[in-house]
Amino acid sequence: MRLKIIFSVFSLLSLLCVTSCISSAVENNPPNIIVFLVDDMGLMDTSVPFLTDKNGNLVKYLLNDYYKTPNMEKLAEQGVRFTNFYAHSVCSPTRASIMTGQNSARHRTTNWIRSENNNRTEYGPSIWNWKGLTKESLTLPRILQQAGYRTIHVGKAHFGPFGSEGENPLNLGFDINIAGSSIGHPGSYYGKDGFGHIKGQKSRAVPGLEKYHGKDIFLTEALTLEANKTLSLAKEENKPFFLYMSHYAVHTPFQSDQRFADHYKDSGKSEKAQAYATLIEGIDKSLGDIIQHVKNIGLGENTLIFFLGDNGSDAPLPIEDDYSSSSPIKGKKGNHWEGGMRVPFIASWISPNEKTFCQEKTPIKSNSIQQQQGTILDILPTICQVANINLPEGLIIDGFNLQDQFMSKNNQMRDEIFLNHFPHGNHRSNYFTSLVQTHWKIIYHYQVDKEPRYELFNLKEDPFETNNIADENPGQLKRMMKVLSNEMKSKKALYPEKQKQSLELIMPK
Ligand code: CA
Repeated sequence: MRLKIIFSVFSLLSLLCVTSCISSAVENNPPNIIVFLVDDMGLMDTSVPFLTDKNGNLVKYLLNDYYKTPNMEKLAEQGVRFTNFYAHSVCSPTRASIMTGQNSARHRTTNWIRSENNNRTEYGPSIWNWKGLTKESLTLPRILQQAGYRTIHVGKAHFGPFGSEGENPLNLGFDINIAGSSIGHPGSYYGKDGFGHIKGQKSRAVPGLEKYHGKDIFLTEALTLEANKTLSLAKEENKPFFLYMSHYAVHTPFQSDQRFADHYKDSGKSEKAQAYATLIEGIDKSLGDIIQHVKNIGLGENTLIFFLGDNGSDAPLPIEDDYSSSSPIKGKKGNHWEGGMRVPFIASWISPNEKTFCQEKTPIKSNSIQQQQGTILDILPTICQVANINLPEGLIIDGFNLQDQFMSKNNQMRDEIFLNHFPHGNHRSNYFTSLVQTHWKIIYHYQVDKEPRYELFNLKEDPFETNNIADENPGQLKRMMKVLSNEMKSKKALYPEKQKQSLELIMPK
């Protein structure tokens, strides 16, 4: 309780500091910013290749040939794509991290938030943050709102349970909320189903799109039309905008978007896998439509877009030896392998023109490939830098500014560490913490019902995690455990609990 009060006071003080920075942002012709977030889109759910060989050359795999994302291809050609970009392994942790710039081990929303009740699971930490974000959270939209931006939320929120402050994006710094609430997936993607209000899963009905109920329209399209309207309004108001375009797609239910069904009917893939591909192509069309609209209203040159997924892929593909949705990467959404956490990331100006004020300040090298690590924790500090807003003093941010990396440089300041802490069960993987440091990866499996288990991979030699070398490299295992332990301590991470005992890390012998 005391900690909470201190934090609240701290947050208010921080806000005052942000307020004092407002004038600088608005006077300097700040760029518009779009974060285009696709739910459950993994690294391989696209025709844009994100994997490279040992020499750094892009390699196309089978799934790249299956999916059709032409607008992503165009965006990657004019911008920079990151080949080693990490998100947390499930929804709410990533979403809270994008909003706060903090690792989930620190903000403590370490599992996805179930709308109705505490999703701690059997041995989860008793005080994990299952209520998510609050009115006091110092979020990215709040910082931008205070700096004079029109802050717009469209689509899936999933920041807090039913009845919580975090349920409503308007409590978190957004001026406008279209279709966001506690729910983590739509009751239905179909307008004729009222997006769940008429037919489908009623407890997950999408709020606020009543005018489309009963109509033949797909959710992705309705959200795109509404998003574009808000951009026109922001332009009329002469305000810079921050659009958090957070698609419900491509999460379950895997319903076919009939506009694209013909493209996959001869693929030989299952009906579900075909429907999934139409969901992907739908968000790609949305990307193209929003880009075109920003150009049409004359804002292309000073609008920056970040395209990304929120966790690994959940594509309904057959699993063979733990390879499926993200093949050739191992694993999928929710688990401890790379397939659980690697997501696509592209940054680009909508209309590249290096001679404009905004782009001179934040240049992006076209058609470039960045192999150095990037993470969802970088979104907040990068946007604040781009928008010329000083970070509130004393605020702890776990990410790094990506600007140097947009120009194909390495950021020497980066520690190249990504910690994914999941002290919960029942989501494909149970009770684990993983840590990547440059090309080394360690996975710690907690001693819930037996001894702890360690996995160690050299991702440079073995990018698809085929060979656990923990036993043959005891020195490297110990070194990586030390790094992991330090990260957990510095973030004040919560451990799983059994019989009221905290299951702290046990070092390898
Ligand atoms: Ca997700």
